[in-house]
Amino acid sequence: MTSQNLADGNEAGTILGHPKGLFVLFFAEMWERFSYYGMRALLVFYLTKHFLLSDQQSGWIYGAYTSLVYITPLLGGYVADRYLGQRKAVLFGGILIAVGHIVLGVEGDGGQDAFALNAFWTALAFIIVGTGFLKANISAIVGQLYPRDDTRRDPAYTLFYMGINVGGLLGPLICGILGETVGWSYGFGAAAVGMVAGVIVFAWGKPLLLGRGEPPEPAYLAGKVGGFVPREWIIYLAALASVPVVWWLVQSHDAVGTLLLLSSAVVVVYLVWESFTRMDRIERDRMFAVLFLVSLNPLFWGLFEQAGSSLSLYTDRHVDRFFFGVLVPASVFQSINSLFIILMAPLIAGLWIKLGRRGIEPSTPAKFGLALIQLGLGFLLLVAGALAVGTGNPTPVIFIFGIYFLHTTAELCLSPVGLSAMSKLAPARMAGLVMGVWFLATAAGDFIAGLIAAGIGVASANAQDKVMATLAVYEWVGGLSIGVGVFVLIVAPFIRRLMHVEHRDDTPVTVAAELVPQPIDSLPDRRG
Ligand code: GLN
Repeated sequence: MTSQNLADGNEAGTILGHPKGLFVLFFAEMWERFSYYGMRALLVFYLTKHFLLSDQQSGWIYGAYTSLVYITPLLGGYVADRYLGQRKAVLFGGILIAVGHIVLGVEGDGGQDAFALNAFWTALAFIIVGTGFLKANISAIVGQLYPRDDTRRDPAYTLFYMGINVGGLLGPLICGILGETVGWSYGFGAAAVGMVAGVIVFAWGKPLLLGRGEPPEPAYLAGKVGGFVPREWIIYLAALASVPVVWWLVQSHDAVGTLLLLSSAVVVVYLVWESFTRMDRIERDRMFAVLFLVSLNPLFWGLFEQAGSSLSLYTDRHVDRFFFGVLVPASVFQSINSLFIILMAPLIAGLWIKLGRRGIEPSTPAKFGLALIQLGLGFLLLVAGALAVGTGNPTPVIFIFGIYFLHTTAELCLSPVGLSAMSKLAPARMAGLVMGVWFLATAAGDFIAGLIAAGIGVASANAQDKVMATLAVYEWVGGLSIGVGVFVLIVAPFIRRLMHVEHRDDTPVTVAAELVPQPIDSLPDRRG
């Protein structure tokens, strides 16, 4: 067997031209997202209707939770790169998440029952720490199945992204309906079943991962500290010890904001320092391209994530939701994004291939610019539609479909493309960390989304014309997003140069050495 075969994953056979390992990752992440989005769909209702918390308290908890879920992958990515390897990290994370969903089954009798509420915080803390180990690392293994310049990498991430969204579509429908109609613990129970299924698929599929994502130094990891406890177990114990800290954090909205600022500052300083002290010029340029792309995440997700908050409230209160005489619950509209992703992802992937053949496929940074422009246009479309019928009348539902459609095509230009770019631009020894940085910027977006939604809430509470209060903010952020998108398009050629790519499909120039991923044990020792 040649090393090229190994790099292609051909020795284990392929499905749809991709290594079988991709589908192990697809199903594991599908179930993880099923549990995440299923639980997320119930969360706000559980807080307000079961624990009887106020809208504002619930909003802050929701913001703190979703931010923390995307902050912890930074640490999880770092620990995996240096010690655990991505595969073990994903397995451990999946188990913690499953434990979290099972603990969520402790309902109590409703109201502010202290025991049930504390069990609830504990469950969220398990899910947050578990996601820290899982999310960035499973995304990094996808890229490791391919040589750096393999043209199947972008399509692989698109497929993986469809797995995410099959979970994102089914989770809210199954867990949401079970939780709201049969009983909360049935909804959370379904999420737990999903995550257990994900762990089983992942453990079963180990041979198909072709040895990717294994610990960089297995002997060091197995070494016993004080001649007693293996280092690997120290990591697991430290993770368990962090659960009480996260238990506190998730209840402390302001602390999460501070943590975000601090960790972003530390990360930027660390990456810049690392790139000047330990990287050659090409690696350093690529790291700056990473920082540029990542810096667009807070704006993108801050606006995109209005979907679960202010846009859902707008849909609930100001949109005509009757279909053939039946009133459709507002929460169901949250599945539209995932549905559109599943329908549109293959078309957009096909479009890139077609444009690529003609040599006019937009570069990665240009796709980011296009994403921001479409995101802004989505908001402006809703504003125009609502104003056309007048703010005194319900907004026709077609404009909600319209904004979700444009936000979905925007997401497809940014999110899977960004994952692929991170895996391509990061030095192999930093694959998990860089993926963690990507999600940290997403966390900042989630936090900003919470602030914008809260601002809209306050503005419309005080306004005469409540519809207009929301629309005015949407119009402003829509224009901002388009403006930044145009700027990104203008600077895209410079950023592309930093990526050191040869073709428009962003294939790196420096192929020979990087074509075949190095065996893990030949990677330079970066410890110390
Ligand atoms: N919807 C995608 C996922 O769940 C992207 C989320 C994000 O990066 N904020 O993985």
